[in-house]
Amino acid sequence: MKDLESTIEALRAQLQRFTEEATRNEAMIRRYHDRELMLLTAVSLPELLERMTCGLKDSFRVEKAQLLLNDPRQEYRNLLHNAGIHLDHLSQIRFLDNLEDLGPLYRHNRRPWLGAWHPQRHAPLFENGGGLGSIAVLPLARGDRLLGSLNLGSCDASRFQASHAPDLLQHLATVAAVCLENTLNRERLILSGLTDALTGLHNRRYLERRLNQEIARSARYLQPLSCLFLDADHFKLINDTHGHAAGDQVLREVARRVVAQLRSSDIATRYGGEEFVVLLPQTGMEEARVLAERIRDAVSSAPIALDDKHYIQITVSIGVSETSPPTHTQNTLPIGEQLLIHADNALYRAKAAGRNCVVCAQEGAQRMIPVRHEEEENPHPQQKDATAS
Ligand code: GH3
Ligand code: MG
Ligand code: MG
Repeated sequence: MKDLESTIEALRAQLQRFTEEATRNEAMIRRYHDRELMLLTAVSLPELLERMTCGLKDSFRVEKAQLLLNDPRQEYRNLLHNAGIHLDHLSQIRFLDNLEDLGPLYRHNRRPWLGAWHPQRHAPLFENGGGLGSIAVLPLARGDRLLGSLNLGSCDASRFQASHAPDLLQHLATVAAVCLENTLNRERLILSGLTDALTGLHNRRYLERRLNQEIARSARYLQPLSCLFLDADHFKLINDTHGHAAGDQVLREVARRVVAQLRSSDIATRYGGEEFVVLLPQTGMEEARVLAERIRDAVSSAPIALDDKHYIQITVSIGVSETSPPTHTQNTLPIGEQLLIHADNALYRAKAAGRNCVVCAQEGAQRMIPVRHEEEENPHPQQKDATAS
């Protein structure tokens, strides 16, 4: 009787343990499910990357979550840059031109790797891994392509052990890789509708979106935002004289010369035809005027080579405007429209003043007088034939 009672007691205790373990497993599966849902519901690349790093770090309650991304063509970096994200703020993400340097962990084994943190061997996996005890390295692969790896690091040496079953982590890594690939494809598609095919600059639709973001940012950080409106002078004459294909070539070169003068944070767009708009974040009117002068000079200072015999001299007129930090951000659109209208009006005055010059909007009389240049004595574009000179 006593034996039976103790057997029942032992069975009851075992059942209790099983029940507790089942509850723990169920909770763990639910947590993994939530993590995967968190990645699957991200609506943009910045949001996905934020969730893959900070989101997973919080969810796993680990000290570090580092994402390594294979980015040989700088595509991720360009997309983030275009979304207005400062890469310096993304210390949990490393963009690599090549994953091959990272050793055998990736080359042969696409399964998650769990184990003790080894400072020398694992240093490239974490930006600053000092103090870690154990790590989980989750290769992110699609087919035989390695997109990167998601690395979790804990100060607790027993948190990630080689003996742990990696199945749930493997599933999470697969979901993360699919999300990365899908998001990248979606952003590529969006970008293709926001890029001007002739010059490679952003187009007007992109400008309209980005303008609102930049105005909101300038309001939030109380920083100025300036705008340049550029228009090629007498461009119709170039088409009429040299043909439309030559005109296209000139437009491409003008775009290249404009971009060459800009900082990486400036936003150059082809507004339409032979007109370009440049947004200059964190830039006041005076600085913008100096930059506009530099652009004007870069375009006009050397003729554009059509081939090794034919050159075209072209000039641009530029209107400059600035928005002071607005006091409210309720409706950013009118401020953006004003910025463009003021720059366009200034451009109109630059044309009226003889072209090949820079005029600033919203200014006192003294700066309303455009900066004049010798070239405007003969404002018509000179089509030079190199063989003639
Ligand atoms: P202004 O100095 O007053 O700006 O004179 P303009 O001749 O530059 O201005 P206008 O608006 O009369 O002509 C612009 C020309 O730009 C007419 C149009 O055919 C040409 N153009 C617009 N888009 C393109 C393009 O993509 N390629 C080429 N080759 N020409 C274009
Ligand atoms: Mg025009
Ligand atoms: Mg023009």
